[in-house]
Amino acid sequence: MKLQPTIGLEIHVELKTRSKMFCGCPAEHFAKPANSQTCPVCLGLPGALPVPNRLAIDWAIMIGLALDCQVNLKSTFDRKHYFYPDLAKGFQITQYDDPFSFKGQLKLESGKVIRITRVHLEEDTGKLLHKTIDGHKLTLVDFNRSGVPLVEIVTEPDISSGEEAKEFLKKLRDILRSLGVSDCDMEKGSMRLEPNISWSLSADKLADYKVEIKNLNSFRFAQAGIDYELKRQKALLDKGEMPVQETRGYQPATKATFSQRVKETAADYRYFPEPDIPPIVLTKAYVENLRKQLPQLPEIVVQELVKDFHLSLSTAQLLVKDPLKLAYFIQYNRQIDAQTLANLIVNKKIDLSHPPQLKTTTETVDPKIIDQVLKENKDVVVKYKAGKTSVMGFLVGQVMRQTRGQVDPKLASQELLKRLQGPALKS
Ligand SMILES: [Zn+2]
Repeated sequence: MKLQPTIGLEIHVELKTRSKMFCGCPAEHFAKPANSQTCPVCLGLPGALPVPNRLAIDWAIMIGLALDCQVNLKSTFDRKHYFYPDLAKGFQITQYDDPFSFKGQLKLESGKVIRITRVHLEEDTGKLLHKTIDGHKLTLVDFNRSGVPLVEIVTEPDISSGEEAKEFLKKLRDILRSLGVSDCDMEKGSMRLEPNISWSLSADKLADYKVEIKNLNSFRFAQAGIDYELKRQKALLDKGEMPVQETRGYQPATKATFSQRVKETAADYRYFPEPDIPPIVLTKAYVENLRKQLPQLPEIVVQELVKDFHLSLSTAQLLVKDPLKLAYFIQYNRQIDAQTLANLIVNKKIDLSHPPQLKTTTETVDPKIIDQVLKENKDVVVKYKAGKTSVMGFLVGQVMRQTRGQVDPKLASQELLKRLQGPALKS
């Protein structure tokens, strides 16, 4: 029987709420002085009680809805126990049996469906810093990140290659950014990727082992790590050896993975319901109201940009990746030719903090506009070619109208002349 690459993904995304998941400390922790944003709750001091962040719950559910998931009307938080110095309480509050949403899907360009197993909400841990101080090697712990809302998205092992994983992750990131719930900045750790990889008979008939790659901080590394791991495992299997179930790291310099530790099983975590937080019970109307707040998904926006503004597909895709750029385009596309504006935005040739101020250079007299004016006024062009040069004023006026006065009339007239005296117009 034939084995096939079987890859699932676990993605952790920090939500950009103002406060943490279970206390009032600020959730934004990047580059803040160590341990400056903590309280008894996120330090896990005895007796401190968690209060769930409602916005984080709403956002976690909206992520589920955007991924076509079913929403649990009754969900619970659970304790996941393990000992590590960055986890002050000795357990992490997460969701186990009843996550906020489950059974979703995301479609790749090829039409292939990647099933989403679940989307759940948990709290982030603190951060360990390994330093040498006065010649001593020390490990310090910073709890600013402890308790930051973290959404975990888990897929079924439906992915077959590093390339597919990369496409899925990019699409997911675009969706999360369009929802405005996370920066998804991998360098700052607000989006973290963990693929699990095996060679199996099928996604429903999995191998007896799987290998997880931890701490990948770019889509490129995820793709390369997966492809390396597939090759490594295949070589073992071809020799009749079974790959070991383990967690591996990825070394960008060598583009190779290396063994880190043998994987724990779920039972080791002694999950049980979090006694300090009652079950979260939602009405259907509440969920439907969240659904109404979903923005249009990036794919749909791309289609509309292509259809309504005649942008090229690649430009539309680039615009949609960044909500700021997209908003700028939507606000100002009436003032300039849409493709010209979109090009300026995606090529970073425009300052997004100001309205577009166009220099009257030839690059702003879009040849498309000149073309369009000439095509729409063929009778006038005929008059011009018959010697009635006074109609030039009319044509310049048309260019001015199309560009909403953004172009120097002298320049427009030069460009028109070039075209009128140049090769014959295509009809
Ligand atoms: Zn706190």
